[in-house]
Amino acid sequence: MNIEQQIIQLRTELREHNYNYYVLDNPTISDYEFDIKLKELQALEAAHPEFYDANSPTLRVGGEVTKNFETVAHTYRMYSLDNSYSKEDLEDWEKRIKKLVDGDVTYTCELKYDGASMSLTYEDGKLLRAVTRGDGFQGDDVTTNVKTIKSVPLQLKGDYPSLFEIRGEIVLPFAGFEKMNAERIDIGEEPYRNPRNTASGSLKLQDSTEVAKRPLECLLYSIKGERLPIKTQFENLEKARQWGFKVPKEAKLAKSIDEVLKFINYWDVERHNLPYETDGVVVKVNDLQQQEELGYTAKAPRWAMAYKFKAEQVSTVLNEITYQVGRTGAITPVANLEPVELAGTIVKRASLHNADQIAKLDIREGDTVFVEKGGEIIPKIIAVDFTKRKEDSSPTQYIENCPECSTELIRKEGEAQHYCPNVEGCPPQIIGRIQHFISRKAMDIEGLGGETVALLVNNQLIYNYADLYELTVAQLIPLERMAEKSAENLVAGVGASKEIPFERVLFALGIRYVGETVAKKLAKHYKTIDALADASEEELITVDEIGGRIAESVVAFFSEEKNREIIDRLKNYGVQLEISAEKLANQTDTLQGSTFVVSGVFSKVSRTELKKLIEDNGGKVSGSISGKTSYVVAGENMGPSKKTKAEGFGVPIITEDDFLQMIS
Ligand code: AMP
Ligand code: ZN
Repeated sequence: MNIEQQIIQLRTELREHNYNYYVLDNPTISDYEFDIKLKELQALEAAHPEFYDANSPTLRVGGEVTKNFETVAHTYRMYSLDNSYSKEDLEDWEKRIKKLVDGDVTYTCELKYDGASMSLTYEDGKLLRAVTRGDGFQGDDVTTNVKTIKSVPLQLKGDYPSLFEIRGEIVLPFAGFEKMNAERIDIGEEPYRNPRNTASGSLKLQDSTEVAKRPLECLLYSIKGERLPIKTQFENLEKARQWGFKVPKEAKLAKSIDEVLKFINYWDVERHNLPYETDGVVVKVNDLQQQEELGYTAKAPRWAMAYKFKAEQVSTVLNEITYQVGRTGAITPVANLEPVELAGTIVKRASLHNADQIAKLDIREGDTVFVEKGGEIIPKIIAVDFTKRKEDSSPTQYIENCPECSTELIRKEGEAQHYCPNVEGCPPQIIGRIQHFISRKAMDIEGLGGETVALLVNNQLIYNYADLYELTVAQLIPLERMAEKSAENLVAGVGASKEIPFERVLFALGIRYVGETVAKKLAKHYKTIDALADASEEELITVDEIGGRIAESVVAFFSEEKNREIIDRLKNYGVQLEISAEKLANQTDTLQGSTFVVSGVFSKVSRTELKKLIEDNGGKVSGSISGKTSYVVAGENMGPSKKTKAEGFGVPIITEDDFLQMIS
């Protein structure tokens, strides 16, 4: 087999595995085996850029940055749906339909997924374009971001038409949403409010690598095109599934409004077991010929109707408001409820967000409150039942002192959250910081878990994460449930963490707002902890994607004598506090301040390598040409539209050799 055939075979195999995993939920190989194959393909593609394919499975990991999303007109307008709320509404709708069309009418019932609408265009089986709904007439081209969503096929299979559009909804399943929020809370960011807004926000992120990390899914429900060989909506769904799209299997045919109602009643309850948010059912006239006869009103199709589920609500008594202290000192008020069943689970707690929220709703202990389950796993209190308020109740006094260490709380201007400023002495903050330090994405210390950290702190063996490096086996053995073997593992695990690269150490330090991505950016820019520690706020905000809030937090961290001391200790223990010499050797500032757009196929280096060379030498890579572009590096087959655009902006077009000359 020659190289090209090898590459094609790997692409086909990986596509099939992606499909099994993300569309069918039924993987046939392990993640590890998948990674090996993906790496193999990446290496082959890097060595043979002549076989570049814009739809290769290797592009799922993102990398392109979009500064401005282009506006694109929809070929077929993206309409809204009319809403109905009752059996009568649906029966009225059927009467209107029967006046306009002859013959029997049957319906397709589908779930109404709550996310961001999306229109995908495929040409010759390849994804050509992905556009948001926008105002229905035109939307934003978010193709680079959508390509990172693994359930969106980049190459179709079967008897697909040569050109068509398919519509669906980009959703963020609950599990992934909760995980993203846990990470945000961990770095002191406010959690996202619901999966729907987070899904649509994700599509407009500039860095597609970030989008690739989000566990988004695309659920499809409708096909548009000229002279398609399809007669009904139900067939639409089946066909889309055959071509490789993720089409939820819940859809059903109904012969009457009674059958439609059965579907609705079933899913009104059962939807709580789905992995993603739904807010209703969409009923569509099944026959496409009839759909055409019915046509559209000014805003919605006459042949479809949304039925909105009522958000499930219960009322229960709020027994007590308690307060939790996070590792960054942020205080979260929690409502402890009289246990009650809601949407199939027993609810005991609800989030209250912050002091403003409590004041706004005038929530008091002893009140009977209405609790609703929206897009979040933790339900929320939406209102107080004032008719049941006790006469002796008095307004909630938000705590003024930390529930754990009694220090007076502070609240910065413009922020919703209260904080406990006793960074050094507040137990949950001390424990939380060390737990963050050892966590998997940070120092990943084997043999040490969150509970053991609490045990070590409570036994006064450690006060901060630097202390971990002085722990001895002899100190650990007397602890409860600590066998000699586990003590040895713990000490060895701490020792091994000295190999963790600088960017992860920087994340592990737990500077507020410095998450994984920010830590990477800062490590790359400053290269050593000393350089970072000396940076002023003004300098920091000149770094790409570092805003005022992060800059302020970084400066505040390093201005603490205590933190400097801990960092000096970490340095002495041999923890990596600068980018390793090997990594540094390949980096320069030669291209500082220049932005490059890469286009076409190259002969000496692959596109990926080229981009890496730009970044390693201090330049920036952008996905689209604008007035801010410094150079376009053009390989063979550079797109004609890019060429015109570059000329229009007067951006110099250079060759691969010119570029390599620049950095040599
Ligand atoms: P609305 O925004 O309330 O007017 O509802 C219309 C939107 O519902 C469409 O733009 C789609 O994004 C969304 N939707 C979700 N699931 C479906 C479905 N199965 N069929 C049609 N539209 C759906
Ligand atoms: Zn405290």
